[in-house]
Amino acid sequence: MIYLDYNATSPCHPKVIETMLPFFGEKFGNPSSLHTMGQEAKKAIEESRAAIARCISAREEEIIFTSGGTEANNLAIRGVVKAYQKKGNHLITSQIEHHAVLNVFKALEKEGFTVTYLPVNQEGLVDPGDFQKAITPQTIFASIMHANNETGVIQPIEELASIAKEHGIIFHTDAVQTAGKLPIDLGKLPVDLLSASAHKFYGPKGTGFLYVRKGVRLIPQLLGGAHERGRRGGTENVPLIVGMGKALEICTQEQEEENQRIQALRDFLESGILAEVPEVIIVGRRSPRLSNTSLVLVRYVEGESMLLNLDFAGICVSSGSACTSGSLEPSHVLLACGYPHEIAHGSVRFSLGKWNTMEEMKEVVRVFSSIVEKLRHISPFGKEVIRNV
Ligand SMILES: *Cc1c(COP(=O)(O)O)cnc(C)c1O
Repeated sequence: MIYLDYNATSPCHPKVIETMLPFFGEKFGNPSSLHTMGQEAKKAIEESRAAIARCISAREEEIIFTSGGTEANNLAIRGVVKAYQKKGNHLITSQIEHHAVLNVFKALEKEGFTVTYLPVNQEGLVDPGDFQKAITPQTIFASIMHANNETGVIQPIEELASIAKEHGIIFHTDAVQTAGKLPIDLGKLPVDLLSASAHKFYGPKGTGFLYVRKGVRLIPQLLGGAHERGRRGGTENVPLIVGMGKALEICTQEQEEENQRIQALRDFLESGILAEVPEVIIVGRRSPRLSNTSLVLVRYVEGESMLLNLDFAGICVSSGSACTSGSLEPSHVLLACGYPHEIAHGSVRFSLGKWNTMEEMKEVVRVFSSIVEKLRHISPFGKEVIRNV
């Protein structure tokens, strides 16, 4: 198997598994218990919180553990909007957000809020000028993702967050695709809230965190005990939280080196595809982009067909977004970038990670170009391309 779907999920780092194991077994205490067993678990999650805070230059009390990126986004958006709704009812986000953000805003619209969904250019970038123009005296909150999961394009978050700050608007960013991959310094970056998910950075699935800047109010969305300083009820998932801290530490330590290595693989893959496959577009190639992501649009071929054929050859990729796979709607991200339906349908996302090699990239270029050629032969429009090249 060649795994090229790291933006969907990553395997746990072996050191992460090793760190978690005792907490599934003998160290099973409840962090809320006052006895020794409980306090041992409490100490472990607090050490993880401290490690995470160090990695992103935050304070420990600004980190809330959640069940993943989806819950962190829900808590950030609903939690803040409900806390500040007396100040106004206008919210701003973008058209290219993950569904864990978009669907929260859609629900809020039904509850009486007004939402502006900012457009992006063909490269998938939000224009800070558009953000500035969308602000009204009623605007209380904005959420723009750090990097997009489909294109890998990195948004001008620092600029957007600064504009929000000037206008007294609370600013959240979904950093699920950047935590562990890019340096995040919350001492400098003026965002108020930031979401992350462990399984996207070699930690376990089902855990994540929300950073909430000191002073930002938040209405808890999961009511229970006084866990997480009363902001998120529920017994902490000790093994997973411990694993997440370890995973973020490893990624932070290896970040620069890994990014260079992975970018060399990604660039090789893209050059290979551009050389071997006619009529392809690589989305966001001229913009700041995650070093591991390549979203390729192939004319006259369906993304799903390419995905299934690659899978048959032992290569795991995604077509558009994993959550929308299986549905006939093309990716909302590609439509927002202005690509027509027929082109947006032909997308394949390669997302690389720690365990990919140059040998694998060579194999992928070879297999992918032959699959595209085969599929174009049986496509009524594809035959034209083959004749024309
Ligand atoms: C994966 C992902 C999420 C959801 O995170 P989960 O932990 O899987 O719930 C949210 N936003 C982005 C950008 C993602 O890539």
